[in-house]
Amino acid sequence: MRDRVGPGRMFTGMHNRGYYVRPDRPLLFSRPPVPAVIHVQGLIFVAPAALIDGKARAAQLSVSITESATELFETHGIRPGLAVVIVGDDPASKVYVRNKQQTAETCGFHSVQHALAADSSQESVLALLTELNADPAIHGILVQLPLPDHLDEQLITQSVAPEKDVDGFHFQNIGKLTAGRTEGAFMPCTPAGCMLMIEDQLGKDLSGLNAVIIGRSNIVGKPLASLLLKANATVTITHSRTSDLPAVCRNADILVAAVGRPNMVKGEWIKPGAIVIDVGINRIQVSEGGKIKTKLTGDVDFEEVSKVAGAITPVPGGVGPMTIAMLMANTLASAKRAANISD
Ligand code: NAP
Repeated sequence: MRDRVGPGRMFTGMHNRGYYVRPDRPLLFSRPPVPAVIHVQGLIFVAPAALIDGKARAAQLSVSITESATELFETHGIRPGLAVVIVGDDPASKVYVRNKQQTAETCGFHSVQHALAADSSQESVLALLTELNADPAIHGILVQLPLPDHLDEQLITQSVAPEKDVDGFHFQNIGKLTAGRTEGAFMPCTPAGCMLMIEDQLGKDLSGLNAVIIGRSNIVGKPLASLLLKANATVTITHSRTSDLPAVCRNADILVAAVGRPNMVKGEWIKPGAIVIDVGINRIQVSEGGKIKTKLTGDVDFEEVSKVAGAITPVPGGVGPMTIAMLMANTLASAKRAANISD
């Protein structure tokens, strides 16, 4: 058996449906979309993965959010307001908060940041949330996680009013999502961004497709499973106690990695042509020109996996920008809901 032909890999004796590309849908690929799996005279060729450009998709979303925000202001005098609360000096959190604030300003939102000292008391954080919950100029409240150890993360996230919980972490919003009642609820931003990218590739109805999520966190794995299930995918959530994870992943038409372990997912774990969404953000040290530098990498071994997958998100430039765009979309929706304006 020859194992390589032309630019893509060749497989023999396998039966794979070429359903990964829907030509009727607008796709954001870094190159023109081609079927990931091509059948020629009984042989199956797999083209190298298309890059799912989260940065470009998020920029596209930001443009339409900005247009809607402008219209909202011009017709109703309402400016969507986002308050970001950060406690402490975690450098990564500061970068995330700055990016969120900059995007909010670009979208024309009223954007405020409350930076509290690392030793702030629980009472002072809760008092600030009470104030923001009552402020009519604020439609979305985000408490940047993680919080310092002495603060009760659950109590604080549950103290954001559900109708301003643009992060989608309040139990009321989680409950609605789990019940499949997403109207009027806020979807957590990272899973919502993943879903948009998956829908761009495969359409809104994922009937007959197997989705595997690595990671069962409350902010990514579990809510994403609810969204995929609502879209009719057959969903498997895996975690650190799952046995033979590579075998489970090989069954995935859609594979989402949300673990926090650099380059864990290997090429041999991937079903040829699968859509791979890499949520992981890991900071690793690399040597460049004799200097040690910090580099961002995902949970997926991009080099290996992109030779097998149909489409793949990069890190950085994949899920991260989409998360921020969905936060803006939630804040805009909240401002409209507060004024009883339909979407
Ligand atoms: P988390 O709460 O730490 O959850 C990690 C999950 O991975 C857990 O369910 C854990 O299993 C599982 N896991 C750990 N080691 C594993 C292994 N060897 N095999 C299989 N599963 C394993 O993390 P998270 O908050 O969901 O975040 C995950 C990653 O996504 C992180 O890198 C984070 O920085 C990133 N992230 C990115 C964005 C974005 O906007 N791009 C947003 C959120 C998070 P157990 O439950 O059994 O421990």
